[in-house]
Amino acid sequence: MSYQGTGVWVVAEGRKGVLLPSAFELVTAAKALAGQRGEGVTVMVVGAGADAAEALSVCGVAKAVVLSGLPELVDDAVAAALASAAKAAKPRTILLPADVFGRSVAPRLAVLLGSGLASDATALELDAEKRLVVRRAGFGGNVTIKVLVKSPAGPELATVRPLAYPRAGTNGSKGAVETAAADVAAAGGKTAFVSFAPDTSGEIDIGAADKIVSGGRGLGNPEGFAIVRELAHALGAAVGASRAAVDSGWIPYKHQVGITGRSVRPKLYIALGISGQIQHMGGMKSSDVIVAVNSDPDCPMMKAANYAVQGDLYKVVPALIAEIKKARGA
Ligand SMILES: Cc1cc2nc3c(=O)[nH]c(=O)nc-3n(C[C@H](O)[C@H](O)[C@H](O)COP(=O)(O)OP(=O)(O)OC[C@H]3O[C@@H](n4cnc5c(N)ncnc54)[C@H](O)[C@@H]3O)c2cc1C
Repeated sequence: MSYQGTGVWVVAEGRKGVLLPSAFELVTAAKALAGQRGEGVTVMVVGAGADAAEALSVCGVAKAVVLSGLPELVDDAVAAALASAAKAAKPRTILLPADVFGRSVAPRLAVLLGSGLASDATALELDAEKRLVVRRAGFGGNVTIKVLVKSPAGPELATVRPLAYPRAGTNGSKGAVETAAADVAAAGGKTAFVSFAPDTSGEIDIGAADKIVSGGRGLGNPEGFAIVRELAHALGAAVGASRAAVDSGWIPYKHQVGITGRSVRPKLYIALGISGQIQHMGGMKSSDVIVAVNSDPDCPMMKAANYAVQGDLYKVVPALIAEIKKARGA
């Protein structure tokens, strides 16, 4: 007898009690699926409390459940608790964010539930039998792959890339808010929380930034990032990078934009010395306004840009910084 589940679950991630925006994006994705099946959406809140559940409960979901009593940052325990709750409630589909948390918890959950899992979705749809189909980038972003999630023994699972969906807003209706004690018995206590080391760099995170200034191989050397940071500082922007710059060891991976880096959707994206290969564009092409500074007028980034400045970035950027400072009276 194959698994019979109903409803779509969203695993809403909190860190240190603060809900991440991905929760609202997953609700948008989940509502679209559930609507086509005539089902409801349940949000399982992990790592945040009743305030988070209240905020999600007004986004058109049936229920928001806080899983309480989870040890901090122990993914085995999170997966065990979600598996225990899912075995009792039998959802048809479970969505998690395709970030560090989701990429760690989802495979563990899939094993515990005997589920099929597709990762890194950029879009979700249903086939004629209303089974989950995931679209994701493949072969370095050169093709889009459609993956049918076959899951005869448990709920179908998917992780969804941050920013793939817009955040759900309030829609007037109010879902139930509940608290459930997390059952972590199945976790086996193999991992334990030791300590938390916060990022003390003071840098703006690219995932949350309204403005990003990114540097690529065109900077020529690691010292080139000084000018990227100077422009970013003048604009109050975060610093991004192409993979070529990251692979060269010029800047840490957390700054990488693209299909194997982070997806970003800022209001302003400034690309300095970045050619705009498909794998980079895949992470930033949804930016509201793109500005490119490049010596090659024919490269893809210059073609995609709303404002394309042809020239040597070491001449253009200092002039730009000077104008910004002048306009601000500094
Ligand atoms: C599986 C796979 C995954 C990948 N994932 C990613 C990813 O997530 N993110 C990513 O970025 N890449 C990714 N890549 C790599 C990607 O294909 C490109 O190699 C990379 O994006 C190129 O980086 P770049 O634009 O900085 O370098 P280049 O392509 O070398 O471009 C440098 C640019 O700088 C310009 N330039 C040079 N000097 C100056 C100057 N003085 N002033 C102004 N302009 C100048 C040049 O005209 C050129 O356009 C991936 C590749 C593969 C195969």
